Amino acid sequence: MIPSPPAEIGMPLDAVDTPALLIDLDAFDRNVARLAHALEGTAVRPRPHAKSHKCPVIALRQMAAGAVGVCCQKVGEAEAMVYGGVPNVLVSNQIVGRSKIARLAALAKQAWVAVCADHPANVTDLNDAALAYRVRLPVLVEINVGMDRCGVEPGEPALALAKQIAASPGLRFAGLQAYHGSAQHVREFAKRKDAADTGIEKTRRTVELLARHGLSCELVTGAGTGSYRFEAGSGVFTELQAGSYIFMDADYAKNLAPDGSTTTDFEHSLFVWATVMSRPTKERAVLDAGLKALSVDAGLPWVAGMPDVEYVRAADEHGKLTLHDPARSLDLGIKLRLIPGHCDPTANLYDWYVGYRNDRVEAIWPIAARGAGR
Ligand SMILES: *Cc1c(COP(=O)(O)O)cnc(C)c1O
Repeated sequence: MIPSPPAEIGMPLDAVDTPALLIDLDAFDRNVARLAHALEGTAVRPRPHAKSHKCPVIALRQMAAGAVGVCCQKVGEAEAMVYGGVPNVLVSNQIVGRSKIARLAALAKQAWVAVCADHPANVTDLNDAALAYRVRLPVLVEINVGMDRCGVEPGEPALALAKQIAASPGLRFAGLQAYHGSAQHVREFAKRKDAADTGIEKTRRTVELLARHGLSCELVTGAGTGSYRFEAGSGVFTELQAGSYIFMDADYAKNLAPDGSTTTDFEHSLFVWATVMSRPTKERAVLDAGLKALSVDAGLPWVAGMPDVEYVRAADEHGKLTLHDPARSLDLGIKLRLIPGHCDPTANLYDWYVGYRNDRVEAIWPIAARGAGR
């Protein structure tokens, strides 16, 4: 059962029930436009990661602003995107296991769908499924550019896998996946750039090695919200996979600009709407938004517009606030906006986005891939 939305179109924001997941549509639109603007005049195109929003409506808006398509991590996410009208999906991940690979191959008959690989046995399985479904599946070699998660090592191991893909009749070698996840949240600008540049050089050398063996990389794809400017200017990457930039969570807001100030590339546009449900003391208030309303893996949320109010603890259904300014009035029943620490797993807790402009509800978008873990 999908619960009904907590809002109706035209409602004043204050009437929206809590907890709810809000999008400030003006800030969101500016974020989408800013990434497009940053890439103007370059050959690099955005391929935003849809794991951040899990919503085909948002994916289509990103494409209307120039994105080639989106990335997904799971076949279920890719299905939700394609069924929602998104024509171009890169599964920027490994898909292992018979039933998932069959779904992937079947989906590739309905849209442009590509996938990443980092193991010869997986390439064999992908080829078998592609032949069975009569599709020519584009496959990218994922290389480990510094995150030490998935991916073959750059250079010779990547070449060997690319050769196997190119020689597989059901597959087409489509290029390199080179995402440096651990560079994204390095706070200091120079260190973040160094980490990204190390990955970019490994990618460049691999592209050149493959070219010497007659394998051209049509797609060289990677980057996130913390590093996209570096990959964009590298001359190596053809696509950028930034995802969180549309929402900007509290964790990303801790990244620093070259002069040591906080980055202003993007604005907070995603908020958890919460109600003060208890006011036991002058210094303490309790919200109806705890662990089941927001993700705290990357830190606790911030209270938007109230720097003197601190969210100090998340329990299952309760969020505890400390009021540092005795003059702050925060009466029972007051609603406020929380900036989540980590946007992606927070979005995964909701069925609907409530989009507002000028404090009025303007859009209610289903989070179609919410919970799509397979
Ligand atoms: C999460 C992810 C991204 C997007 O990163 P953000 O930090 O949200 O911008 C891009 N590519 C891959 C493979 C990812 O897993």
